[in-house]
Amino acid sequence: MSGTPAPITSPEVKYAKIFINNEFVNAESGKTFQTINPSTGEVICEVAEGDAADVNKAVKAANQAFRLGSPWRRLDASERGNLLYRLADLIERDRGYLASLETLDNGKPYNVALAADLGLVVKCYRYYAGWANKNHGKTIPIDGDFFAYTRHEPVGVCGQIIPWNFPLLMQAWKLGPALAMGNTVVMKTAEQTPLTALHVAHLAIEAGFPPGVINVISGYGPTAGAAIARHNDVDKVAFTGSTEVGQIVAKSAADSNLKRVTLELGGKSPNIVMADADLDYAIEQSHFGLFFNQGQCCCAGSRVYVEEKIYDEFVEKSTERAKKRTVGDPFTNVEQGPQVDKEQFDKVMKYINIGQKEGAKMTTGGKRVGDKGYFIEPTIFKDVGENMKIQQEEIFGPVMSIAKFKNLDEVIEKSHNTIYGLAASVFTKDLDKALYLSNSLRAGTVWVNCYDVLDASVPFGGYRMSGNGRELGEYGLDNYTEVKTVTIKIPQKNS
Ligand code: NAD
Repeated sequence: MSGTPAPITSPEVKYAKIFINNEFVNAESGKTFQTINPSTGEVICEVAEGDAADVNKAVKAANQAFRLGSPWRRLDASERGNLLYRLADLIERDRGYLASLETLDNGKPYNVALAADLGLVVKCYRYYAGWANKNHGKTIPIDGDFFAYTRHEPVGVCGQIIPWNFPLLMQAWKLGPALAMGNTVVMKTAEQTPLTALHVAHLAIEAGFPPGVINVISGYGPTAGAAIARHNDVDKVAFTGSTEVGQIVAKSAADSNLKRVTLELGGKSPNIVMADADLDYAIEQSHFGLFFNQGQCCCAGSRVYVEEKIYDEFVEKSTERAKKRTVGDPFTNVEQGPQVDKEQFDKVMKYINIGQKEGAKMTTGGKRVGDKGYFIEPTIFKDVGENMKIQQEEIFGPVMSIAKFKNLDEVIEKSHNTIYGLAASVFTKDLDKALYLSNSLRAGTVWVNCYDVLDASVPFGGYRMSGNGRELGEYGLDNYTEVKTVTIKIPQKNS
């Protein structure tokens, strides 16, 4: 991407209604809800509040768009790819506006929204555009006079429920592979951040997607989200969010029509720093691995394990670094904006309080920043015990726990001491240690001497209660295809 557009500090909200059949419509109930600017606590605008009735309408539209002979089903696979390339180009064209709207609604610093979120979003759509005509089946030499082949077909209507921490990026991770493989979509955005996804919906019309292929509903989880998860005419549900809600979604899918389920859930990822690591680099990467996106990352390196010999120095220097982290108005040149809403702010402050009560030592932070909005000081705890709540539960905020270890087997055991298994990282110059740890850790991603390196071409997802299925990369296509075997009797087979 060339050029850096300046932020628009008061971006105009152009779309705040439900998107069905390429039209923006009011909720069936006529209800709206408020979306809040987390930097000020003020209302940005009213947004149409979808519920089960709107989900029904959207599912009908998506099924209609998926019917045999429809424009979408008749489209060449390469043309599906072209639509996605066009959508990527339009998002790139509007990136300054979209990054500004994301900053307004979510609170992430504009510079980060532009460089990280928008950059990854455009690449994700382009990556999956390329796959549209490349995920093909096989011919298989079975016994007898038969010809057998497989087709990779779209699953059908895909329900997609996304969170608020990376609104545009989570939309791209979900829409990219689903559309490339020829599915239709009913997406529910997070109630905290409904705005940018609706602008992308508008761009999908401009790109040329037929009506009903993409439908976007803003609204709450227990109403609109639950209606998707239990709908009998939805063929698949993809969910990103908390482990708790992931369990509800999986249960609803099982109790209704056994729709396919993929889940991208929480984490409590261990970040292991060996004594031989480049210390200053490991400190900076660990800082980034936890505090990036206000600490609101499912893969945040929230349990930092540091080898005993360098523990005190690591804590001291990490504390100095955290004190220097700039927090404030996300439209200015800061590293950290507010937490997404009051609920998340209160939750993080509660954990800071619990950590102190549990006896962990806070070396910096712990307080609110300013007197409006939901800003929290970068916070570090040392001497964190394995069974403390702050070491076990996902805080989803700017709170780093630093614990110590003596040897590899001890740190592997500690790393596995949670219900999660999303990501892990290792900092060391010793190749043997790097390989031993990366092979041993039960996590969907292991970063060695780096953190949060995400790319549309490599899979991402969790072991254990961090979810099931993998998003991104070639593996991510499996979530959005059914494999059909076709076996045909033939007069005579020859080798
Ligand atoms: P959540 O799981 O409640 O919400 C995620 C999405 O699911 C939202 O769109 C929400 O409306 C929807 N949802 C909520 N209840 C639902 C239901 N019963 N049926 C269907 N959909 C439903 O997450 P949250 O409340 O926004 O955040 C709570 C915690 O979840 C955070 O503190 C964090 O620990 C975790 N989280 C994880 C991720 C991630 O990327 N893995 C993202 C956001 C939040």
